[in-house]
Amino acid sequence: LKDLYQVIGVSKTASEEEIKKAYRQLAKQYHPDRNPGDKDAETKFKEVQEAYDILSDKQKRSDYDRYGGVRTNQNPFDGSPFRRGKPFSSVFDDFFDNFMGERKNNSHGEHIAVEVEITLEEVHTGIEKEVKFERRSICSNCGGVGGKQSHCKHCGGSGLRVIHGEHMMVQTKCPACSGTGKQIVEACADCVDGYTNAVEQTMKCKIPPGVENGMRFVHAGLGEPAIENGSPPGNLYVLVSVKEHDWFRRGQQGNLLIEVPVSYTQLVFGGEIDVPNISGETIAFHIPKGTQSGTKFRLGNMGLPIFNNGGHTYQRGDQIVQVKLEVPSQFDGEYEKTLKDLSEQERTHIGPQRKRFLDKLGEHDAGSEK
Ligand SMILES: [Zn+2]
Ligand SMILES: [Zn+2]
Repeated sequence: LKDLYQVIGVSKTASEEEIKKAYRQLAKQYHPDRNPGDKDAETKFKEVQEAYDILSDKQKRSDYDRYGGVRTNQNPFDGSPFRRGKPFSSVFDDFFDNFMGERKNNSHGEHIAVEVEITLEEVHTGIEKEVKFERRSICSNCGGVGGKQSHCKHCGGSGLRVIHGEHMMVQTKCPACSGTGKQIVEACADCVDGYTNAVEQTMKCKIPPGVENGMRFVHAGLGEPAIENGSPPGNLYVLVSVKEHDWFRRGQQGNLLIEVPVSYTQLVFGGEIDVPNISGETIAFHIPKGTQSGTKFRLGNMGLPIFNNGGHTYQRGDQIVQVKLEVPSQFDGEYEKTLKDLSEQERTHIGPQRKRFLDKLGEHDAGSEK
């Protein structure tokens, strides 16, 4: 890229008048009317035009002075001047944002997310929880502006910046004022960025019954206010985290699973066992005679309400009770003697399932001997 001052033939400190004078002379000299058919003169004439176009414009000239040679036809990511300083990257961010049709400054206040932990019992009943979060407000001293403002010096208040390259011209937001056309000339004494310090807030938040772990509730507009006039505030997101329960596990569709350890004779003879439910009661539950370990019993409608997002009538899941044989690992004295007697008895008292298994095993062994 040619130095524009050299193209015009003036020094970098040349006054507007000097530039104008030099340009007029060169323009006359290379004018196509004076040089019919002269390709070199035509090229020179164009160069002079382009150079003058930038150097005669205060804003364009200061941009050129600040950023040096601008080559918009160059890949911005190959170590060209565009990657050097912040102004350029922001110019390019804006450029690509505009190009992609995206708006970088999402004009709403910041969203706030807050987590609330609840128990399974609270899932059952639904609950009102107090949530605490920090929120900034708009500084009352400056009204969110951040200080005393005047027109941006870099774009003269237009908010635009025009980059002239060899082959194209790009118009972007002014990097100095982010396109607002305004500049802070005296910082606010009470704030840094137009916001007050964050202040702790408390809010009561209704968590409906049946809520699931990881659900989030949006409280629209309860985030931080937006500084831009007319832009909506952010939202407050309440994320629900459900604590693990000592004995209940959550299944599909409001079902609650509970595993109850039982003894051999409880399964053999059947009988009453105590089972807790989610309401905090203990219910007597009857195991039938000859129940296998691992059997599941269903207590209808004793599970959790199924989440229905603010509705008033809830379907409920079931409570599922699974009995599990606990094999004794410590025994002595009379108990041990009884168990040993039992094991003697079980040599001849073989259950149908075990008998079928032993029969199959016998056939298998006979087969493999042939
Ligand atoms: Zn302020
Ligand atoms: Zn500006």
